[in-house]
Amino acid sequence: MSAPATQFNQDARRLSADLRHRQTIQTAMGKYEVVRDQRKAAFQDWQAARQMAAETKWEAVNHLDRHLEQFVRNLEARGTKVHWAGTAQQARDLILGILRQKQARVIVKSKAMTSEEIHLNEAMAQAGYEVVESDLGEFIVQLREEPPYHIVFPAMHLTRDEIRDVFQRKLGDAPSNNPEELTMVARRVLREKYLQADVGITGANFAIAETGMLSITENEGNARLTAALPRTMITLVGIEKVLPRLEDLALFLPMLSAMGTGQTLSCYNTLYGGPRQPGETDGPEEYHVVLLDNHRTALLADAEQRDSLHCIRCGACLNVCPIFRNVGGHTYGTTYCGPIGAVITPNLRGLNDWKHLSYASSLCGACTETCPVKIDLHHHLLQNRRNASNLKPSWWQKTAFKAFAPVATRPALWSLVTKLGRLGQKLHGLVKGSRLDPAYAWTKTRDLPPIAQQTFKEWWRTRS
Ligand code: SF4
Repeated sequence: MSAPATQFNQDARRLSADLRHRQTIQTAMGKYEVVRDQRKAAFQDWQAARQMAAETKWEAVNHLDRHLEQFVRNLEARGTKVHWAGTAQQARDLILGILRQKQARVIVKSKAMTSEEIHLNEAMAQAGYEVVESDLGEFIVQLREEPPYHIVFPAMHLTRDEIRDVFQRKLGDAPSNNPEELTMVARRVLREKYLQADVGITGANFAIAETGMLSITENEGNARLTAALPRTMITLVGIEKVLPRLEDLALFLPMLSAMGTGQTLSCYNTLYGGPRQPGETDGPEEYHVVLLDNHRTALLADAEQRDSLHCIRCGACLNVCPIFRNVGGHTYGTTYCGPIGAVITPNLRGLNDWKHLSYASSLCGACTETCPVKIDLHHHLLQNRRNASNLKPSWWQKTAFKAFAPVATRPALWSLVTKLGRLGQKLHGLVKGSRLDPAYAWTKTRDLPPIAQQTFKEWWRTRS
């Protein structure tokens, strides 16, 4: 078993038995579900909207080369410097190069899952830069020195008391566990950092090919300040975020808000088209866009799972997933958790080490049903399982199948083993759940279905 799989099993066992943790998640999800359904109902025809979104993303991804060229042409025409990063390492090197060139010391960041994906914060901290997350949830998990728990709600696993405690420990300022008072503390700290920051780094939700603009949607205004105050701005965005036309936002912005946070529209929706132009009063003097591949083109070449590049990172599939709701986001050990993480991580980080995530699913299909861009998530999990079964089998799998083959191909032997199995199961009933139980690892959390009292052949014989 790979190290990530062992860790996953340990964490999943611990957290699924942690009732307080589960209660925190269920409470947050309960509130989310109500508002999400209200927002979905506000669409004239939700299923038609999903179909349109799926087709638009299909168009964008299946003609990615053309759309990216158009996007870059338009961006560069207004003075933006565009960089292509094939790997996470290249993206980190590019960004560190810009920071060195600008002689930066303090970096302020808004929420960007791509930066988590390439471990940018760690790289910048190691290089000696002071990096401050400006999204409130990200700010909190940064103080706790842990990764985001959820694509949209990074600190959803924390109680008010836990947040107060970390503010007290790290900032020395936590008047109470009142969310408003704690937010004011974070605001005071962050405002100072904005004024000191030399470079602002953002992600982006959509990249508009037609106009060469990056669309950022948020609720706190922190991304706007990240873009407006520092002299240099860097946006790190995955190449799959392209949308063909500006008018596509009319569908995607409300859809992302409805499914992500249960809002009609996020509070701040901004388009960035380049550095400050002559006569403009704000915006960065220099604007860099880093386009990240990092195995996305490999997914693009995979006709079966290409639609996983349609993801708009709304987080809705996590919220409905019974596994996520029991084991939580950190258990996955990856940047992208939940069903979409289980689909793409084996493709992004290697099937051998991450195939176990494909089994972290009941295959109920709730993720596929909820996904606003209609990604066939649970079938992709099955495809990953199939691909995993084609990998080199482990020694115990080889031994088990070697033992199974002669039994399965000899009817008399099969009949004998079935009878012994029934007897073994009766004896097992005497020790089930105790330390003497040889199947304890299995029966501790699952039922062992009884072997049928009569096989089909036995039944058939009685009929004739
Ligand atoms: S796979 Fe679909 S539901 Fe899940 S985060 Fe992406 S867009 Fe949202």
